[in-house]
Amino acid sequence: MREFVHGTQASRVVFGVGSLRRVAREVDALGVKRALVLATPGQTRLAQRVVDLLGASSVGQYCGAAMHVPIQAAREAGAEASRLAADGLIAIGGGSSTGLAKAVALVTGLPILAIPTTYAGSEMTPIFGVTEAGLKKTGRDARVLPRCVIYDPELTLGLPLAVSINSGLNGIAHAAEGLYAQNGNPLTDLMAEEGIAALARAIPAIRARPDDVDARSDALYGAWLCGAVLGQVGMALHHKLCHTLGGSFNLPHAQTHAVILPHALAFNAAAAPQAMLRIARALGRLGQCSAQQAMFELAQENGATRSLREIGMKAGDLDQAADMVVDNPYWSPRPVGPQARAEIRALLQRAFDGAPPEEPAASDPVDRSSKSTENQA
Ligand code: NAD
Repeated sequence: MREFVHGTQASRVVFGVGSLRRVAREVDALGVKRALVLATPGQTRLAQRVVDLLGASSVGQYCGAAMHVPIQAAREAGAEASRLAADGLIAIGGGSSTGLAKAVALVTGLPILAIPTTYAGSEMTPIFGVTEAGLKKTGRDARVLPRCVIYDPELTLGLPLAVSINSGLNGIAHAAEGLYAQNGNPLTDLMAEEGIAALARAIPAIRARPDDVDARSDALYGAWLCGAVLGQVGMALHHKLCHTLGGSFNLPHAQTHAVILPHALAFNAAAAPQAMLRIARALGRLGQCSAQQAMFELAQENGATRSLREIGMKAGDLDQAADMVVDNPYWSPRPVGPQARAEIRALLQRAFDGAPPEEPAASDPVDRSSKSTENQA
């Protein structure tokens, strides 16, 4: 048994079809009397539904959430919370809504109740991010961890199919990297494997019937577990690549994760054989093919985004992206420093072209003398 440290995060999880109807009780249990509901402009009606369910316990809604939390939106939402004397925040929607609530909570200390409607997992993490002048700053702070999370699969029935598949793969990516995290432990490993398996079961079922509430429940259950892993352990090369591509080249979040994941697994495969075994087992492909191939097939058979080219990456930016990844790497089981520049550039080219992940030769040498700096989600 390896040595480990495990800390339990203090958040309450309420899971079940129709559980949105419990929102007033949960808000009351938090001691919140004047909740401000936060959402994206596309989910205004859903935000209003929460305002209506809360009645006198809500002071209204602010629906200006956007991807990567622009500082302007964070300031506006914070000003609205202060103008209305809000004493709590309800984030309903995907990672953009939760991210906005976190940015406000970081400054005000207000408690958050999150109601996720995608599989991004931000609701289970103390990780925040705010984008200013084209630069996304991230960090961890216990104040931004939602105190309560309501998972209601009914709210995900209308999540468009393409978003659902890519978002499910975004969830899987947290658990996959969690399985080879430096600070992983037996409990996060169990959660990661179960989370990947649930999402991998759900993705084809949702593709077959997007309004299948059982499949949607499975997916949200997997998203919860994968998000919890993200909240507890450090992320590696895959997340560094996605943050670079999203933060500096403005590529969309979930689609970028869906494209990159098989390639990042291929890069780390020889350095993390136990993790790869668990990933392949969770995908139901143990002994049949590599983890990266199984991930690639899950994505492609279900219509996930395949290439960076199709989501707006420019071929001329691949060199700069490779430089950014190796100049300031996250810890990875296979080190990512200047010595890996050529391999990272080749990985990005494959992802750009939509090529299958590389299958490294079994005898590939692996240098484990990793040094790295950060590993935020
Ligand atoms: P998102 O929140 O931007 O949602 C994508 C779009 O789908 C939005 O237009 C939204 O209105 C719409 N939508 C969401 N749920 C819907 C539903 N059920 N039905 C119909 N439409 C729906 O996307 P996301 O992928 O959930 O989140 C991405 C953001 O979250 C990024 O900024 C990313 O950095 C952040 N994130 C943060 C963490 C963390 O731990 N801090 C973790 C994961 C993601």
